[in-house]
Amino acid sequence: MSQTALPTTQVPGLYHRRAGDTLITAISDGHLQGAVQILKDITPEAAEAILTAEFRALPPTLSLNVFVLRHGDRTALVDAGGGAMAPSVGQMMPALAAAGIDPASIDTVLLTHMHRDHVYGLINPDGSKRFPNATIHAHGKEIDFWMNEANAGTVAASFANQFEAVRLSVVPYGDRVQRFSAGAELFPGVTTVDLPGHSPGHSGFRIGGNDGVLIWGDIMHMPEVQSRHPEASLVFDYDPAMAVATRQKMLDQAATDRLTVAGMHLHFSGFAHVGRRAGGGYAVVPEVWRSSL
Ligand SMILES: [Zn+2]
Repeated sequence: MSQTALPTTQVPGLYHRRAGDTLITAISDGHLQGAVQILKDITPEAAEAILTAEFRALPPTLSLNVFVLRHGDRTALVDAGGGAMAPSVGQMMPALAAAGIDPASIDTVLLTHMHRDHVYGLINPDGSKRFPNATIHAHGKEIDFWMNEANAGTVAASFANQFEAVRLSVVPYGDRVQRFSAGAELFPGVTTVDLPGHSPGHSGFRIGGNDGVLIWGDIMHMPEVQSRHPEASLVFDYDPAMAVATRQKMLDQAATDRLTVAGMHLHFSGFAHVGRRAGGGYAVVPEVWRSSL
């Protein structure tokens, strides 16, 4: 008997789901190495205890997803992943190829915000544009802040590389970078939602009405911890108090309205519901695999 070689790499992280007339494809871009020390307003010991109880690795890893939306003859990408920023991310391109999605077919890129792990995938390793036919859309406040390097002097050193990332990955799109504000419809059936705090113009995208999906961007980075403790902010939050208020509002809304949410740092496939815990706080309940569309 011949022995078939066993795989040494994971299969592409792809998952299709419908929301109204839109087909959403979740793509795993990989993961980022995290640390409990990036959380604020919770002790490292308390965060580690929750992660250990949930059978998560220590130090924790942060999942990183992007989403493709298809509607009629239109194709949008929501965030672009981390590209070449770390060897553990940048799996979007092979996953797009495996899904049969030509980068040239992407006409729209919707950005939840402009942090490095969401924009660096907009460019190839040689600095050229990956999506030659795409218009990039971001909240006006996001563009004003991150595309003005004079602001680099106003933020903590940990943000310095964000300005460089935006200069390298967003600026090459030139005048095809456009501003939006809350309630804009930039793609059929998709409206923008203000979710400020993590970044000046951090935004979500509501797809397909009330029984659809809300892509909520970076409302949570470590869902196990921040669902129980929504008050735990992140060293990378632009306005931590506002980020906490926005997270609490969205968790309450998702639980009350029984929303389906999708997140860039929720564990793949990135779709989940939010429940209330009897003892306080919330639970993120991952959506189960659906074998049919
Ligand atoms: Zn992020």
